[in-house]
Amino acid sequence: MRINRTLRLAIGAIAVALVATACGGGGDAATTEDHVREGKLTIGIKFDQPGLGFREADGSYQGYDVEVAKYVAGKLGVPPDGITFKETPTAQRETMIMNGEVDFIVATYSITDERKKKVDFAGPYFVSGQALLVKNETTDITGVESLTGNKKLCSVKGSTPAQYVKDHYAKDVQLVEMDNYSQCIQALRSGAVDVVTTDDIILAGFAGQVSGELKLVGDTFTIEKYGIGLKKGDQQTRAKINDAIEQMIADGSWQKAFENTIGPLRDSTLTPPSVDRY
Ligand code: GLU
Repeated sequence: MRINRTLRLAIGAIAVALVATACGGGGDAATTEDHVREGKLTIGIKFDQPGLGFREADGSYQGYDVEVAKYVAGKLGVPPDGITFKETPTAQRETMIMNGEVDFIVATYSITDERKKKVDFAGPYFVSGQALLVKNETTDITGVESLTGNKKLCSVKGSTPAQYVKDHYAKDVQLVEMDNYSQCIQALRSGAVDVVTTDDIILAGFAGQVSGELKLVGDTFTIEKYGIGLKKGDQQTRAKINDAIEQMIADGSWQKAFENTIGPLRDSTLTPPSVDRY
């Protein structure tokens, strides 16, 4: 009798250990809906992009993507204090969604067919375009056509701008790939590279931090539709996030969030996109 009980307890302990192991590996097995029911969400943002997704020295988070994330979470039923923000660098975003390390990502994340093979996207909630940033005194780089003569061009690993340069300008420029945009900005300011490329809104945020030192040049030359990346196949959450984006645009919060964050740094008119319910 006693032995049987000990045996049963041992089997129980092994079962618990096995379940715990199965849930390990960075994320957990619970769905976003489970997390919402618990009043908690882990949302991926950038930590180093001023005006978009930025972690302040005091540990608070600022930016347009942060505002979009908070609004969407609120509509799903999760208040700001139920949100854990996690840094999701450009090249790691799909993996972090697939591993369940984040529920969704709001991080200047362009919707592409390639990425859609691994994750789904709600939105778009914003449209930007690839541009160039140089030092104020630079005169020989005036736009994308002037990217000749083996100039050193910095962008970020796994980003759509880096891919665009590889596809279109591989022979004329030396592409220097970093892990994040602040590293590119540092390289530009120190003279290690000649030019930085990514979405105009990201470049405007960095330029605004060092007023007068850096300038955007030329027109935008791609269309980047920002989506909210989430687990592939989670139709229900995607539909709810799409509803939230539409509400954010309709009730004026979308415009207000932009004006209170990155808006003043970017001089162009703001047109709300329509979400794509594919
Ligand atoms: N929107 C582009 C992308 O998703 C560039 C910005 C970024 O790296 O987050 O690749």
